[in-house]
Amino acid sequence: MVILDKNQPFFKGSTHTHTTFSDGRYTPKEVLKIYKDRGYDFLAISDHNRFISNFDALIMELIVLCGCELTFYLSERKLPIHINVIFKDEKTRYRYFMGEAGFKYHVHSYEELNEFLEPIEEAIITLNHPRTSYINYDDILKLTALTSIEVYNHGSCIRANNGVALSHYTYALAKGCNLLAISADDFHAKEKVKYIKPSIELVDRHIGGFISVQADDSTKNKIFSSIQNGRYYASMGPEIRHLEIINGEIYMECSSVSYIRFYANKDLLKIERGDNLTSSSIDLAPIDFLVEGKGFIGKTQYLFIEIEDAEGKLAWTNNLVPILQK
Ligand SMILES: [Zn+2]
Ligand SMILES: [Zn+2]
Repeated sequence: MVILDKNQPFFKGSTHTHTTFSDGRYTPKEVLKIYKDRGYDFLAISDHNRFISNFDALIMELIVLCGCELTFYLSERKLPIHINVIFKDEKTRYRYFMGEAGFKYHVHSYEELNEFLEPIEEAIITLNHPRTSYINYDDILKLTALTSIEVYNHGSCIRANNGVALSHYTYALAKGCNLLAISADDFHAKEKVKYIKPSIELVDRHIGGFISVQADDSTKNKIFSSIQNGRYYASMGPEIRHLEIINGEIYMECSSVSYIRFYANKDLLKIERGDNLTSSSIDLAPIDFLVEGKGFIGKTQYLFIEIEDAEGKLAWTNNLVPILQK
């Protein structure tokens, strides 16, 4: 079974972007041009608590997904929780949010937050930057409407070198929440270093997290449903070019990397180190996906691949267990 196919095109995009419509530096049109010039195929604009109307008018050969980063203030937390909602289309969006007005939600409990998010249909709902928001691992499990989690947030990486949230992701998977892995920019293009200003401000400094999606064609609907179905990989740079389950093995091809790691249930099943690795595989026979085990995790809840290039940039497949169990 081919999961990602090297003979089919990939579409590159970021799902977390700010513009002058909230606290971003550039207008939506400027942002789209920045990404288009860098070879991106799609972008979700996700301003804080605001929806830009008429997204379709913004599309200039770049597909724009209709999104928003919602701020939730919970009574029991000092820091708010940021959740990205990306709608399939504006029609679905209008069913829940009318107009362009700002929203900030004060909720008393996770139950109230879930009651707000759960009725939203046809949406990709992502927990953003769990490390920057100091989200407790167990609190992820309380957010029942989530479809995905930011395993990498480039903005958090620039600001405080805490962009990778792999342990938040694996904890949720181990506890049976089958969330997808998102890597995104959280593009603001504003320098937030308070005391030492970089001498040159470069837009490219703010671009470094993306997902690469396989879809039957490059329409908005197809790209949206491929993301929903996890038909993509998440990356800081390296490329996963092929992923297949064949002859009782998982087989993967990638751009040149230094490490390939197969993670399952808190362990590294396999790690390869080399100067120019471009493929790897793992035998599935010894891995028991059904038998209940002991301790924290029990049966195998997750298996995914991480690659790392010579610069230390990472990329991840989604969790393969749901596919293997079919
Ligand atoms: Zn945020
Ligand atoms: Zn953001």
